[in-house]
Order: sequence, then C-alpha cells, then structure tokens
Amino acid sequence: MKLLEERIRKDGVVRPGNVLKVDSFLNHRMDVALFQEMAKEWKRLFAGKNINKILTIEASGIGIAAVAAIEFGVPVVFAKKAKSINLDNDNYTTQIVSYTHRNTYDVIVSKKYLGPEDHVLIIDDFLANGCALEGLLDIIEKAGATVEGIGIAIEKGFQKGGTVIRARGIQMESLAIIESMDPEKGIVFRD
Ligand code: 5GP
Repeated sequence: MKLLEERIRKDGVVRPGNVLKVDSFLNHRMDVALFQEMAKEWKRLFAGKNINKILTIEASGIGIAAVAAIEFGVPVVFAKKAKSINLDNDNYTTQIVSYTHRNTYDVIVSKKYLGPEDHVLIIDDFLANGCALEGLLDIIEKAGATVEGIGIAIEKGFQKGGTVIRARGIQMESLAIIESMDPEKGIVFRD
C-alpha cells in the first residue's frame, strides 16, 4: 500500500536490532485518517470472507483493529496481557515471546467474547518472527473459532514470521513489506 510505504519512509526511524519505530503515526500518536485508509484496503483484500469478529493484541494493535472493525461492521476483541495466568475456566490463555521486549508474557481472552461461532480476522501492527500471531492462532484454536485471515500493517519480510504463518495456508495481507532496513542505508520495500 503506497500511502503506508510513503509514510514509513518519511516518518519511520530504523533502530539497531532490526526495530522500526513508527511512534509518530502508529504506535504512540495515531493517524486515524491513515488507519481508515488501511482498513479500507483490508476490506478490499478480504472481500467475500465471512468475518464476524476482529481479534488483536494489546497494546499497539488496538487502534488499527478498532478502525478496521468500523469498516467491517464487526466487534473487536483484544487479547489482554496478564501478569500471571490463572488457570480459571473463564479465559483462553497462551504464552507469547515478545520481539521488542525480549521476554515471555501471558495473554488471555475471555470465553465470553470468542467461541466456535466466530469467523475471525486477526489484525496486528507488526509481523517479525510470528510469535504474537502464533499466540493469537492458539487462542482461536482453543476457542474452536475459524481464522478467516490476517491483516498486518508492517511485515519485516527479512524475518521468519511471514514464511512460517503463510505455510499454514492462512490468507495473510501485509500492507507494507520491508525487504531490508538499515539506520544508514534506509528502507527497501518488497514490490
Ligand atoms: P513477532 O511476534 O512477529 O516476533 O513480533 C510482533 C510484535 O512485536 C508486534 O505485535 C509488535 O508489537 C512488536 N514488533 C516487532 N517488530 C517490531 C518493530 O520493528 N517495531 C515495533 N515498533 N514493534 C515491533
């Protein structure tokens, strides 16, 4: 998506350790007009899919997922980070390895808000190694729900997540795929 690529080129900051900062329009200050355009693009790419729920993960997925939910006309549920998993009967739980914080955390989704009747579109801001998506897919499987697709804002195509998740045969649409990035040489997008 050209609009997103141009914005990343203009305002994205490449940090050492393969981290791209997009705080000025996506992860801290949020350009919701841009989010609306992204949501329209996902709607076009997933046209014909029977989607009745959007699932994301806190915190930085929530903004884009909420705007996408308006476009799709469906509710959005976010997986909550939990200090420790209580093995209660009310929640689906899973563990995720954090790319940016380099630790492991637990997430939960209430059984009240996800179930076998759901046809889910996952939305998230970044795809790196695919750990966040693996966690969300695990929760959807535990709920007996169906994954209809995955919408990603920025995929770092040089990391393994894209290959791992696409190998599962799920339709995944990343609006900008970064082929390479370097603090000095800048960012190259995949065509
Ligand atoms: P993964 O689980 O695919 O390794 O990483 C995805 C998660 O890590 C995303 O939800 C995002 O929050 C975070 N993340 C991964 N790479 C980056 C990055 O380059 N920049 C930022 N801002 N977040 C990232």
